Amino acid sequence: MKRVVFLCLAILVLCVPMMAQAAEFGDRTKDMAEVTGVRSGDGADKTRIVVDADKKVAFKQMVLSNPDRVVVDIPNAWISPKAKLTKSVDSRFVGAVRVAQFDPTTVRIVVETKVGKNNYKVFKLDGGEKPGRVVLDFGNLGPDTTGTNIALPDVKKPDTAKPATKPTTKPVEQKTPPVEEKQEPAATPKDEEDKGDEDPDIASITGMKGKVITIDPGHGGNDSGAIGPTGIMEKSVTLRIAKELAVLLRAEGATVYMTRTGDTEVAANGANATDIEELQARCDVANSHNSDIFVSIHMDSFSSGEVHGTTGYYYTKGSKNSERLADKIRQGVIDQIGTSSRGTQGANFYVIKHTDMPATLVEVAFISNPREEKLLDSEDGVKKAAQGIADGIADYFG
Ligand SMILES: [Zn+2]
Repeated sequence: MKRVVFLCLAILVLCVPMMAQAAEFGDRTKDMAEVTGVRSGDGADKTRIVVDADKKVAFKQMVLSNPDRVVVDIPNAWISPKAKLTKSVDSRFVGAVRVAQFDPTTVRIVVETKVGKNNYKVFKLDGGEKPGRVVLDFGNLGPDTTGTNIALPDVKKPDTAKPATKPTTKPVEQKTPPVEEKQEPAATPKDEEDKGDEDPDIASITGMKGKVITIDPGHGGNDSGAIGPTGIMEKSVTLRIAKELAVLLRAEGATVYMTRTGDTEVAANGANATDIEELQARCDVANSHNSDIFVSIHMDSFSSGEVHGTTGYYYTKGSKNSERLADKIRQGVIDQIGTSSRGTQGANFYVIKHTDMPATLVEVAFISNPREEKLLDSEDGVKKAAQGIADGIADYFG
C-alpha cells in the first residue's frame, strides 16, 4: 500500500511540471495578440509599413544605429507563421524589414531606415476591420508637404535608371518558346474589372493607386498548357496565381483586368478560335482598357525534369520599360519562391508583341520539374508567386 502511494506521488511529481508547462503555453497564446502580417506600400513621399494583429496592441520604439534602424517591440504578442518575416522594401526611405519573435512574449519589428530622426513616425490604428494595427511611416511626414523637406542622409534614387540585369549565362536548354497559341471551347468571361478590396492603409500612398493592370493567366479551357509529372496543369496554376495577384494589386489601389477568371478560352468563339484569335483576344483586353502594364503568367516546361528556374520575357523590339518590367517581376518571383534565375530575355511571343503597353510574360517556374511542380501546386507556393509578381510590379511603378 505504501509503495502504491509512493508511486503515485512519484508520478505526480513528474507530471505536474509538464502539465503546468502545457497549460502555461495554452494560456500564453490565448491572451496574446497574434501578429498576422506585415504589409508595405511605397509612395512618392513616404513608405508605409503596417503590422496587423488580431487584437489591440501596444508598442515601444527605439532607434539603433550602424546601420540606422528603427526597432518597434509589441509586447504580449506572438507572430503567426502566416506573417511574412522578412521583406525587402528597398524604397528611398526604407531598406529591409524584419519581423521576429524577440522573446516569448514580444514581437519585434526592425526597419532599416534611410531617413533622419524626424522623418519617421510610429503609431497605432485601432478600430476598422483590422483590430490592431501598428503603422510605421518613413519619409516626408510633415502636415504641410511644402515646407520642411525631408532630411535624407545620402538620398539615392531607386535604381530605376539602372539597366535591367541580363542573364549572365545562356540557358543551356533550348525549349520551344511558349508561342502560347492555342485555346478552344465555349468561353464567356471577358475582362473582369472590379475595384476589389482596396486597402486604405496602403492604397493611400502606394505608387500602384490608379494604375490599370491587365493580368493574363496563360492557357485555359481546352488548352491545358504544359502538364507536370504528377499531372498538374499549367492552366490551373496560372489562374490560381493570377487570382491571388489580382487581390494583392487591388488592395494597393490598382484597377485590375483579367483576361480570364475561369477555366476557359478568352476569344469570343472559344475553342473554335484560331491560336492567333485566342492570343489577340488576350491582347485586346489590355489594349481596350488602356492598361498601364500587361502581365502574362506562365509555367515553363522542358523534356528533362531537371531544368528549373524563373525567366522574365519582354518583346525583343519592345520598349525599355517592358524589359524593366520583366526584370522586376522575375526578380520579385525569385525573391519569394527561391527559384534560380534564368535571366530576363527578349522574345517574340504574341501577347507581349501585340500589346500596346509595357508587357511581360513571366515563366514562374518549371512545371516539368518535380520540385517546382509541387511548390506551385501548393497554396503557399501560389501565394508567394503572386506576392513576388506584385512586389515586382510595385518596384516597377516605384
Ligand atoms: Zn505557357
